[in-house]
Amino acid sequence: MSDNNFVYLLYGKIYINLTNLCTNDCVFCIRAIKDDVVGANLFLSEEKVDMTELKKQLDEIHPENYKEIVFCGYGEPMLRLEELKETAKYIREKYPNLKIRINTNGQANLVYKRNVVPELVGLIDSVSVSFNGENEEVYNAISLPKLPNAYGAMKEFIKECVKHNIETTATIVTGYKNYNVNLESCKSQIEALGVNFRERPWIENGY
Ligand code: SF4
Repeated sequence: MSDNNFVYLLYGKIYINLTNLCTNDCVFCIRAIKDDVVGANLFLSEEKVDMTELKKQLDEIHPENYKEIVFCGYGEPMLRLEELKETAKYIREKYPNLKIRINTNGQANLVYKRNVVPELVGLIDSVSVSFNGENEEVYNAISLPKLPNAYGAMKEFIKECVKHNIETTATIVTGYKNYNVNLESCKSQIEALGVNFRERPWIENGY
């Protein structure tokens, strides 16, 4: 029996928690505030995905009763790309009616130094990318990226998703303390990229 929660439920959707690592350190990140999401502790005891345990947790939740599954959790899911792809393939084969989404900071191509978006085609229905700011200065102040050129890489990632017909949404967190984001500028840039725009007002519990 594993202590690690690789699978949890929120708002009638299934979520997958693959890692606690991230290439950002966002000022509003829920990880800095609490250990759990609706009672499921999302801190993993080790940075390793036990795929047998993950699939067992998934099957036990009866995915056939849900419509959507989201790779999210307490970290950046694309940092576990191979496990993410294996899980998505498992879901596609066993639960073909489930829509599959990734919530990501959009820096995967920067991390892997290659374009990984084609590897997602057929496995993933949609991505939600944290856009976070109207320019690099605002983005860096909010996201505290650990890699250089993260802002540009995130935008390029969005363009690749569009090119590969993956439904894409770019999100902005608003209302966190005194961090001011120019919503209109973000919205027009996001719309110019040809993707959906979503504002996520900050809430105390982070979800
Ligand atoms: S990208 Fe997500 S997981 Fe990473 S620091 Fe920001 S809010 Fe937290």
